[in-house]
Amino acid sequence: MKKEKILEIEAKHYLPVFGRFPIVLEKGNGAVLYDTDGKKYLDFFAGIAVSILGHNHPALVKAISEQASKLIHCTNYYHTEIQARLVEKLAKLSGLERVFLANSGTEAVEGAIKIARKWGSANGGKFKIISLNDSFHGRTLAALTATGQPKFHKGFEPLPAGFDYAKFNDIEDLKSKFDDKTVAVILELIQGEGGINVANQEYASAVSKLCKERGALLILDEVQTGICRTGKMFCFEHYGVKPDIMTLAKGLGGGLPIGAVLCTEAVSSAIHKGDHGSTFGGNPLACAAAVAVLETAEKENLAANAEKCGAYLMEKLKKLPSKEVRGKGLLVGMELEHEGGEIVKKCLERGLMINCTADNVLRFVPPLIINKKDVDEAVKILEGVL
Ligand SMILES: *Cc1c(COP(=O)(O)O)cnc(C)c1O
Repeated sequence: MKKEKILEIEAKHYLPVFGRFPIVLEKGNGAVLYDTDGKKYLDFFAGIAVSILGHNHPALVKAISEQASKLIHCTNYYHTEIQARLVEKLAKLSGLERVFLANSGTEAVEGAIKIARKWGSANGGKFKIISLNDSFHGRTLAALTATGQPKFHKGFEPLPAGFDYAKFNDIEDLKSKFDDKTVAVILELIQGEGGINVANQEYASAVSKLCKERGALLILDEVQTGICRTGKMFCFEHYGVKPDIMTLAKGLGGGLPIGAVLCTEAVSSAIHKGDHGSTFGGNPLACAAAVAVLETAEKENLAANAEKCGAYLMEKLKKLPSKEVRGKGLLVGMELEHEGGEIVKKCLERGLMINCTADNVLRFVPPLIINKKDVDEAVKILEGVL
């Protein structure tokens, strides 16, 4: 099919929710993508921090192909070995004993909210969830409501009740929002969609302490920060805080759709047969991808590479004109004095994929397999554009 035809069909039939660039992608290898015109792009977006092994990684391709030829789907009425291997691995890595597998980030967050509410109903009838301004937790109704950005709520009211919002990195404001019905705080230690806003250590510790004191649960949304993105397997490891509930998705399947919500054994005691479920969640194909991603991440030491290349990227970005460069590992934001949309477009024309979030923050979330030469090339293109 000709490129023009593809664009025409999508314009006519796809629900018009995305602002897309007029390119059609065909294939990829490592940190490089090719469009149907044969044009090459250095991928510093990784499909929104998803393709952490890059494109066409042999370990991931092999795992998916082998699993596909055995069993693609069977529902959770039955067991599969690959699902058992994945949940055991996630529990070991995180220290959270219980895992539920979903298909996306927003579903993982919905699961987290439901687990917290169920726990709250058995612990004093608590239900209120506090999230942070500028957070992002997904697009389904409860996750959308938890998302502390009014622009995403507009037109979808009435929203589910029992949510409140506090200022990020402001413990006094969070305290003022707490009451005896507060069951949980949901927090991204680094707000990805909100502009790469990094929680400071003092705040993270204080939130954890406050939750403990008030008998509320700490939900860490690691959908974007998890799986080595920030230079550790999970971002909470930087802070020495431990969540009661944690969500994962983006990087977990290396591109296969999968999400996970994890919780402690104590929290899981409120959950019983029939309380939650999913037709596709934990399907063998997605599980095979996630196991391959986790094993490869460990084998290739992607956390260390993210830390090293991330520090190098930040150092280089700091030499370019901006308001601020911030982040951890390969979750990096560069706040501009002006809107960033035009810069993203020009970078794309010159063969670099990046993204702009919160209007004026350029976001760099490349595959975690990149090297310093890739960083040099990306920064060179960006410098030319700036
Ligand atoms: C992307 C994201 C989500 C939503 O994930 P989807 O897979 O798009 O539903 C939730 N939380 C955070 C922190 C995210 O970055």
